[in-house]
Amino acid sequence: MGVRVRVPAKINLALKVGPPRPDGFHPLATVYQAVSLYDEVHASWANPEEFEVSVSGEGVAQVPLDDSNLALRAARLLARTHGDHDSLGVRLSISKAIPVAGGLAGGSSNAAAALLACAALWDLDVGPDALRSLAAELGSDVPFALLGGTAVGSGRGEEVVPALARGTYHWVLAFGHLGLSTPAVYRRFDELSPDATVPEIPADLMNALRSGDPRQLGPALSNDLQPAALDLQPRLGLLLEAGLEAGALGAMVSGSGPTCAFLAADEADAVELSVALSTDGLCRAVRRATGPVVGARLVG
Ligand code: ATP
Repeated sequence: MGVRVRVPAKINLALKVGPPRPDGFHPLATVYQAVSLYDEVHASWANPEEFEVSVSGEGVAQVPLDDSNLALRAARLLARTHGDHDSLGVRLSISKAIPVAGGLAGGSSNAAAALLACAALWDLDVGPDALRSLAAELGSDVPFALLGGTAVGSGRGEEVVPALARGTYHWVLAFGHLGLSTPAVYRRFDELSPDATVPEIPADLMNALRSGDPRQLGPALSNDLQPAALDLQPRLGLLLEAGLEAGALGAMVSGSGPTCAFLAADEADAVELSVALSTDGLCRAVRRATGPVVGARLVG
């Protein structure tokens, strides 16, 4: 018994980064897309004040099981702010397919899923606006994981608005051999980009999304963090080149990396591209995914 929530990974179709603000955060202008690579979070009742998490699947060794686990933090925050914390408890069980520290917001997606799962399990009177504001408190990418689809993000990325986008896109995701720490990538970005300016969403990307044409979208993909990620893991450059040579319409590091996302023209091209990338030894594993898909949803 309990509640099960399925939640997708995200990629950033554009990620524009400004100079750090006085609070240390970087202002972002980004376009998120949720893609069909999912983690699942199952929530079941535990004794009052017992908050536990277990994890299975992709990258389990790197996921903390203490209070720094983002799903557990989400459950505790919800209990504190919208319930009677002393009478609530939960056992969370996370089944991961999204690689850890991969630039696909795996941890953030688990936090969004835990918010939804616990609100349903505990039968709390908490509406979508309240869930969104808890999500923003938990992390920049958490509100988008609740929303899904294709959306424009601003602020630290936590202010999200659905974008006008047509069509379904076929992606090939190539997972790196090693993870990349998001703070380390931002530190390198600051060193490489002393003249960063106020970030703006690129018009060519929004036009491409309105057209629904992957051939327009491919060249419009961009990521300001890519030079920093390539500087920290130079082999990612070879991987991006290999994908473009194998026919990708566009290729980029996803978020802070090291996952690379390749856009294919259609499903058949995505199959060919994924075969080419899985045999060249430049990445650990390859998955096909489509986007956009919906955000965190109850599935049982
Ligand atoms: P983002 O794209 O949001 O920067 P990411 O996809 O690069 O994130 P995550 O998978 O979210 O990275 O993991 C970042 C760190 O968060 C990991 O090093 C991990 O130790 C920690 N973490 C905490 N809770 C979780 C969780 N439930 N799942 C995955 N990682 C978690």
